[in-house]
Amino acid sequence: MQLHCLGTAGYHPSETRHTSSYFLPESGVALDAGTGMFRLPERIQTSTLDILLSHAHLDHVVGLTFLLGILYQRPVDVVRVWGEEEKLSAVRTHLTSQYLFPVELPVQWCPIDDLSEIELDDCRVTWRQQNHPGGSVAYRIDWHDGKSLVYATDSTGDHDEATLNWMGGVDVLLHECNFHDSQKEWAIKTGHCYLQKVSEIAESVQPKQLLLTHINPVDELTLPADDERFAMPVSIVADHDEITF
Ligand SMILES: [Zn+2]
Ligand SMILES: [Zn+2]
Repeated sequence: MQLHCLGTAGYHPSETRHTSSYFLPESGVALDAGTGMFRLPERIQTSTLDILLSHAHLDHVVGLTFLLGILYQRPVDVVRVWGEEEKLSAVRTHLTSQYLFPVELPVQWCPIDDLSEIELDDCRVTWRQQNHPGGSVAYRIDWHDGKSLVYATDSTGDHDEATLNWMGGVDVLLHECNFHDSQKEWAIKTGHCYLQKVSEIAESVQPKQLLLTHINPVDELTLPADDERFAMPVSIVADHDEITF
């Protein structure tokens, strides 16, 4: 399975990072729709696109407005945008208000609130709510071939037993880490994670691979060399990374 990192920053783009946007080309699944979305067209391999929104903060949804250009370059049969109903409603009311954007987006809006899972061609998607201002959801994708990935961003790092069990044993844990350990107070104030918190979650979940995302463009996270808190391979993802798992 391939994970393409189209945008790895939180908040706003930097010279080297666009905002949160990931793509799994074999499944046609996008995780969030930040400014990195413009990198999508050449990577599309399927006739459908399923965009899973963690929440509706601008750094995760502004790229939905790029879809006209994306689909002009690489048409597909259907685009579905999944997320909590009130977040989808906020996007439709505000982001695609005629005062902000001139036309309706050519997508199907698919609320997840009353669903227990999403069945796609080659995988099954489940989710859990997270603590973040306004709320957000983490997604877990389990492919029919046994591979799995959890995408947990914009969260204070939920670590109750049910959440850790739900994340358990994944191949890839793509987890946010917006802040350094020295910025713990900022993490709590803004609803984000810091490195120690992510290390505790990873210790419980034991993913085969830990990828850190939603990198603060103003003060980039660094990983101490040989950080003994992590028993598994851990890296800070970069734009254009293509990760095989
Ligand atoms: Zn964010
Ligand atoms: Zn957010």
